[in-house]
Amino acid sequence: MFASIDPRLWLQTGQDPVALLGAVTPARLDELATDEGFLNGLDQLAADLADYVNRPMWFQEADASSLPTGIAYFSMEFGVAEVLPNYSGGLGILAGDHLKSASDLGLPLTAVGLCYRSGYFRQSLTTDGWQHENYPSLDPQGLPLRLLADDAGAPVLVELAMPDAKVLRARVWVAQVGRIPLLLLDSDIPENEHDLRNVTDRLYGGDQEHRIKQELLAGIGGVRAIRAFTAIEGRPAPDVFHMNEGHAGFLGVERIREYVCEQQVDFDTALTLVRSATVFTTHTPVPAGIDRFPVEMVKRYFGDDGPTGLLPGVPVDRVLAFGTEDDPSKFNMAHMGLRLAQRANGVSLLHGRVSRTMFDELWPGFDPSEVPIGSITNGVHGPTWAAPQWLQLGRELAGSTEALREPSVWQRLQQVDTGHIWWIRSQLRAALVEDVRARLRRSWLERGASEAELGWIATAFDPNALTIGFARRVPTYKRLTLMLRDQARLEALLLDEDKPLQLIVAGKSHPADDAGKALIQQIVKFADRPEVRHRIAFLPDYDMSMARQLYWGCDVWLNNPLRPLEACGTSGMKSALNGGLNLSIRDGWWDEWYDGENGWEIPTADGLADEGRRDDLEAAALYDLLEDAVTPRFYDRDDNGVPNRWVEMVRHTLQQLGPKVLASRMVRDYTEKYYAPAAQSFARTSAPVDGVPFGAARDLAAYRLRVSEAWPKIQITDVDSTGLPDTPLLGSELTLTAAVQLAGLKPDEVVVQAVLGRVDATDALQDPETVVMTHGGSGDAGTDIFTTTTPLPLAGLLGYTVRVLPHHRLLAGDNELGLVTLA
Ligand SMILES: *Cc1c(COP(=O)(O)O)cnc(C)c1O
Repeated sequence: MFASIDPRLWLQTGQDPVALLGAVTPARLDELATDEGFLNGLDQLAADLADYVNRPMWFQEADASSLPTGIAYFSMEFGVAEVLPNYSGGLGILAGDHLKSASDLGLPLTAVGLCYRSGYFRQSLTTDGWQHENYPSLDPQGLPLRLLADDAGAPVLVELAMPDAKVLRARVWVAQVGRIPLLLLDSDIPENEHDLRNVTDRLYGGDQEHRIKQELLAGIGGVRAIRAFTAIEGRPAPDVFHMNEGHAGFLGVERIREYVCEQQVDFDTALTLVRSATVFTTHTPVPAGIDRFPVEMVKRYFGDDGPTGLLPGVPVDRVLAFGTEDDPSKFNMAHMGLRLAQRANGVSLLHGRVSRTMFDELWPGFDPSEVPIGSITNGVHGPTWAAPQWLQLGRELAGSTEALREPSVWQRLQQVDTGHIWWIRSQLRAALVEDVRARLRRSWLERGASEAELGWIATAFDPNALTIGFARRVPTYKRLTLMLRDQARLEALLLDEDKPLQLIVAGKSHPADDAGKALIQQIVKFADRPEVRHRIAFLPDYDMSMARQLYWGCDVWLNNPLRPLEACGTSGMKSALNGGLNLSIRDGWWDEWYDGENGWEIPTADGLADEGRRDDLEAAALYDLLEDAVTPRFYDRDDNGVPNRWVEMVRHTLQQLGPKVLASRMVRDYTEKYYAPAAQSFARTSAPVDGVPFGAARDLAAYRLRVSEAWPKIQITDVDSTGLPDTPLLGSELTLTAAVQLAGLKPDEVVVQAVLGRVDATDALQDPETVVMTHGGSGDAGTDIFTTTTPLPLAGLLGYTVRVLPHHRLLAGDNELGLVTLA
């Protein structure tokens, strides 16, 4: 509809509806006001939107008794649309897709983040191929945002006390993402002193001092913005708080302050309440990826707990304790997230495993496999990332876009003619080639070339050649330049007379990362050469609009991170949703969903200490695959020119991966596995007991204190077994009896478990089974007796041990508190 108002202006404004409406002439608007066809279309679309926003969705039809009444979702970046460039990469796009799918599913979710004056930078290249950054300033008035104002029309200002009696203020913009309000805090207002106006100037710019202010504003200011918003809009207060990465972790301490100051609850009870309602998602598999601040810096911001301090009534020592790690001079934001959230997850199965090991120091005594961090594999928003041709086909096959959430519906692709699938793929590739030529021309002109030198671009890239995409941010672990490891071999592939491949590369390096910029320069220098420049290009300024063209048009999506450093990765999912075949190291989501027929795995040499040799091996494997598997299959054509076996892989990819990679699947998983349990925990934990407000939380807080004090004194004084023959037989029964010194705890305040398994060479138990032992009276010297009789889980060399863990009905698991005593 916006395009039909003025197609030329629509392209000129970068498909920005607000900019278009600002630029269209009054004469054209008058014309449209009498255009029946346009008005009917407009009414139809307005009715569709009203229906979408109001009709009952999946959430409204689910079992209401166990669901949250409101979810507050915090993230430092949101990639909702290219006209709102409030993101740098995968994390932000994921947050944007989370909101859109939450809207599609009808979740009562409110999101909060910061409104950056310049967003992330725009990238261009110098003549020399070096990344150049510029930061065009965005005017919120020209963006699809409205200012949050109170009933009297006055803009809401969120305030935070800063050191030296300063005050940081922010106004709140609201972006409406379908049903979901996204609140964005903006410090660039005249009410702030000059240096505080800059707090929200840029995403991931500035030093740590700058960054901690941003994170304080997002976390603490974010909660205050939500309070103001829900009050003005008459919405229920959220009962679940989701930290998308640790950056907004300070939201938990603000919520503790609310309980302490406004509800007269003690600190530990407040912490218990906050934990029960909080979900923490970690996104990085490397310690270097975690935000850490100097303890002294955190102390300076929280140090004054008097009435004019940042968080009156909240002792700074307690705040500092949330961020402790093995380096006593550092405050660790991920550790704070884990200590403030009763539930936590990574973003793929593999990343869940890696996270359990990475954070196991917070649960000492437990095997990493028992660390309570789960995983939800990321997903992508279908209508945002699938090409219109696929969406149209999907609607024809399924009846509606919503029906595509059902995996079985995707099997109907079986009915679609091979030639038709190939025709869609070819159309999308041809459109991409057009777009690449236009971008290439702009980039060369920007780098100082003249039109006269650029005649070659008109025929650069081939709409019929195998097209491979590689686009993502440029941290070292993603190995942008692995493809250049053997330049002669790559060049031979690009220039093959009969079966050429063409490569489109894009990505931004963090402005402070010169090593990343040097990698970009290497690619640019390689691609600049007249011999290959029609087959490989680096396109500057990777953003959502370019990304979409690439996912739509590329036949193959290449990803070669250092395993296991890619927590999930989502660009390959977006490619798969368009019938792109992934060619990737088995990392992140691809480790989980590669099935042998939906693309190719590049074998990894992880574990090899010599990094250069690892790169050599993995690059060689990549070239082998391209030469022996990928290219031959693409060019293996039938009489009509259709590569049947290729198209079968495309069909299989869509059928198998289509339903899995959707963000609607992800948000449903979050709702069922995290939001609903958190809402139930919060309801149980905040319930009164015998008329005492928050009685349950007080009980749990008191229990936690008692258990922590008693724990060092808990001992398993004796373990006896009967029935264990010399050569244990499967199914024969074993009786174990343990005497436990409970140090004042009652038998039902702990759980005693027998742990049985095969003994390996190091005397450790393999894949152990745990069996709960029942309390059976008291033993000698004030001990309690616990016993169990259990069939042996296996034959052969069997080992067993006994352990004690805390147990309370309001804990999410017996491992939650990280306390365990072994025999
Ligand atoms: C999807 C997307 C990403 C994330 O891609 P990864 O492969 O996960 O790194 C980054 N930037 C843009 C613009 C995207 O659309």
